[in-house]
Amino acid sequence: MKSITIRDTKENIPVGKILCIGRNYAEHAKEMKADVLETPVVFIKPSTAIIFDGEEIVIPKISDDMHHEVELVVAIGKSGKNIPASEAHSHILGYAIGLDMTLRDVQSDAKKKGLPWTAAKGFDTSAPVSEIIPAKLISDPHNLTLICRVNGEVRQQSSTDKMISRIEKLIEYISTIFTLERGDLIFTGTPEGVSRVVNGDIIEAELVGFAKIIHQVKSAY
Ligand code: MG
Repeated sequence: MKSITIRDTKENIPVGKILCIGRNYAEHAKEMKADVLETPVVFIKPSTAIIFDGEEIVIPKISDDMHHEVELVVAIGKSGKNIPASEAHSHILGYAIGLDMTLRDVQSDAKKKGLPWTAAKGFDTSAPVSEIIPAKLISDPHNLTLICRVNGEVRQQSSTDKMISRIEKLIEYISTIFTLERGDLIFTGTPEGVSRVVNGDIIEAELVGFAKIIHQVKSAY
């Protein structure tokens, strides 16, 4: 089992489910030529997809088109089911910066055929994530800047105030479907600017003022 560190504590908690939200920023939906939906798109990555700062991101053999998606990650601290938005914050342990690495060719093919995104989104190394920054250190999670650089060049930069479904609403909605448990992570969706990365590229994902992770991309073939 993968465990994740909570900053400024000696605590390490096992990672449970990784729930990911799609199309939560209008400009990204537009660049993907996808409609913004009334209810969020939810998909899951296995916890084996997690890697931490400095580890390699590996493009599996099934793909020749990997994209970065920088995202704010919410870590769940208190378990719950059918959590009302008004109580969502009491279930949040903290926040992290993450990358929802995506095999865009595999995903496009799956979309065309009406098949699940599991391989395109859940492969090993598809979920690089920082340590958890305790919620008490972040006064407004909807006023954070996300940046993704590739080889030093900014590819994505946006604010979490552009999220379509806010964190409280996401927790409310997701918890009507899945029991949320301590150690679950929610990837809250990516802003515009996603792009391809190739063997040897260096990806930096930053939650400005709080956390940064750096990863090199490696091709499996
Ligand atoms: Mg994403």
